[in-house]
Amino acid sequence: MHEVALSRQLARIVLRHAKGREVLAVDLEVGHLRQVVPEALLFAWEAVRKSVLEGQAALNITEIPAVIACQECGSKTQIGEILDFRCENCLSRDIKTISGEEFRVVSIEVSPERKQ
Ligand SMILES: [Zn+2]
Repeated sequence: MHEVALSRQLARIVLRHAKGREVLAVDLEVGHLRQVVPEALLFAWEAVRKSVLEGQAALNITEIPAVIACQECGSKTQIGEILDFRCENCLSRDIKTISGEEFRVVSIEVSPERKQ
């Protein structure tokens, strides 16, 4: 499952920043083009974080919509469930992706005290 691999990747990033402190919360931005199912990611995260991290490490996922910009007419189009990379204004396929590829840790909340 794709979400398990992402959770492991995320745990490595969080672990590096936590420096042995308890992790309370993790804010994550995930782009639509990553094709992540938030529920599946949360489920995978529960298993992964328990084996790797100290603390609750509650995962807050913000989904970032996928937006493309047309190189022909300059219109911006938001990509829906069906990944159709065409300008909705002029139907050109000469587009550039503006957002939607994010997999980014925005913030990590850690406890101020070091664990004994
Ligand atoms: Zn266009």
